[in-house]
Amino acid sequence: MKKVDFIIVGQGLAGACLALRLLNKGKTVWVMDQPQSNRCSKVAAGLFNPITGMGIVKTWRAEEIFEELFEFFPKAEAQLKASFFYPMHLYRPFQTIEEQNNWMAKTADKGQNKFVKAVYTSSAYPHIHNSYGGIEVNQSGYLDTNAFLSALTRRLLSLDSYSEENFRQDLLSIRDNTVEYKGVEARKIIFCTGVASLSPYFDWLPIRQLKGETLNISFSERPDVIYNKGVYVVPTSESAVYKAGATYSLSDLSPACTPEGRQELADKLSALLKDPFQILKQEWGIRPTTVDRRPILGPHPEHSNLVIFNGLGTKGVSLAPYFSNQLANWLTGEGEIHKEVNINRFKPLYSRS
Ligand SMILES: Cc1cc2nc3c(=O)[nH]c(=O)nc-3n(C[C@H](O)[C@H](O)[C@H](O)COP(=O)(O)OP(=O)(O)OC[C@H]3O[C@@H](n4cnc5c(N)ncnc54)[C@H](O)[C@@H]3O)c2cc1C
Repeated sequence: MKKVDFIIVGQGLAGACLALRLLNKGKTVWVMDQPQSNRCSKVAAGLFNPITGMGIVKTWRAEEIFEELFEFFPKAEAQLKASFFYPMHLYRPFQTIEEQNNWMAKTADKGQNKFVKAVYTSSAYPHIHNSYGGIEVNQSGYLDTNAFLSALTRRLLSLDSYSEENFRQDLLSIRDNTVEYKGVEARKIIFCTGVASLSPYFDWLPIRQLKGETLNISFSERPDVIYNKGVYVVPTSESAVYKAGATYSLSDLSPACTPEGRQELADKLSALLKDPFQILKQEWGIRPTTVDRRPILGPHPEHSNLVIFNGLGTKGVSLAPYFSNQLANWLTGEGEIHKEVNINRFKPLYSRS
């Protein structure tokens, strides 16, 4: 029988970051993934941005999370001998004069300023509508998620640690201190399956599906920042092709692109870009979000060798490095899972299920 330390089901951003963390700790893994054309890690624009939301505020735990992100991905590039991490400033135009005023009043917040490269009170970029100016954000950029995931798959294949297959619950044997799946024994199995399918052991968790659509576009300008005003415009691996997104829908979860999604994004792009743009492609995916907008990490309430890493929501690129580290430390007995993200916060739902 083959023995590994950990089996990981799902190789999106969650499973990929966790697998690399564990390999870097000298642990053995076996990763199985059923690639689906629309899994959300592959559709994602890969944007990371520490200043977000309507209120233009520092994102949750920005200091720790962005420090980890800027350490993890460059190291991963060197280890996997591939390029996928692209730091780039992000320009967020003010929508109104009130927004500009509110921001100016807030600039005393030193913590926030760390992430702000410059503030403009009049147009700073001639190709977009930004007459009230805007803020230019530091420590932002994008991850070429497809390049990262492919590079990791190649590494896992070279270690004979990857299998492209669909996990089947009926083939899993759970013992006191180990699990066994198709002749592979491990100390624990970690489910990183996004919304595609939750193991029946974790289907009581409140993972909410949030559909998103994006457009690939081309236009004449080659911006050297990411534009973000109600819609983001992020470079892609293809020269002169940009990804614009995204939509957010809890109600329409249809597994397809919609004319409404296309129209919404096209309208927002027209309000941002002065130059004409061409739509080249439309994509959709479904994000695994949680009611409290925090990831879910930790062991099943009854079977401690079944573990989950999920709920990365709309920010998988920035959250996965930090929380894969936390989970890997817990799995190897070197650290705790923080209360805010611990599966224990949902335990009352389990007893009722
Ligand atoms: C349109 C859109 C745009 C986005 N843009 C961004 C962005 O710019 N920046 C950002 O940070 N985040 C973005 N996100 C969110 C981001 O994509 C998610 O946070 C992240 O990808 C979630 O990763 P995951 O690994 O948990 O899930 P997934 O990517 O869904 O990965 C789960 C994996 O598990 C596999 N799997 C499932 N069931 C099984 C099974 N039974 N057997 C084997 N394998 C299985 C799936 O095939 C998949 O490969 C976006 C999402 C969408 C939909």
